[in-house]
Order: sequence, then C-alpha cells, then structure tokens
Amino acid sequence: MTKMPEIDRDKCDGCGLCIEVCSCHVLVLVDNVVEVKERIGCQQCSKWCTMCEMVCPVGAIQCPFDVITEE
Ligand code: SF4
Ligand code: SF4
Repeated sequence: MTKMPEIDRDKCDGCGLCIEVCSCHVLVLVDNVVEVKERIGCQQCSKWCTMCEMVCPVGAIQCPFDVITEE
C-alpha cells in the first residue's frame, strides 16, 4: 500500500502552506481542511519530499515514511 502524508483534521486550520510547497499537487482544501487528493501523486514524484510536514505550523501533517539520501 502506498504511504501518503496523514492529515490530522482536528489540527488543520486551512492555512494552505502545505499546498503551496507540494510539487505534486496532491493536497487540496475541502471545507477548509486539507485532504490528500491523489494517493498516487506523491509516489510519482519519487521524492516523498516531506515539505508539507515541515511547513505545517500546527503539526497537522505526518509523513509516515523515512527519507534516505544517497551520498
Ligand atoms: S511529501 Fe511532498 S510531494 Fe508528498 S504530499 Fe507532501 S509536499 Fe507533496
Ligand atoms: S500547513 Fe498544516 S494547518 Fe496549514 S493547511 Fe496544511 S495541514 Fe492544514
């Protein structure tokens, strides 16, 4: 199963910062709460960049995967 960022709907305040940084455009606002639109999108970019998790000011996104960089 493809791992995707997980949204804590109770924490998300709809600021939209995660949407701005997502290069795969898989995040959307629905009723002022972020949802993952395309579950395959984050995988297609082959990055799992975790930018959404890093920019969220309230800790509403968790990326359930590890990013390993090669030297
Ligand atoms: S990990 Fe990166 S590509 Fe995936 S949803 Fe977050 S910002 Fe978008
Ligand atoms: S950055 Fe965080 S609070 Fe802002 S829309 Fe995204 S998940 Fe919600």
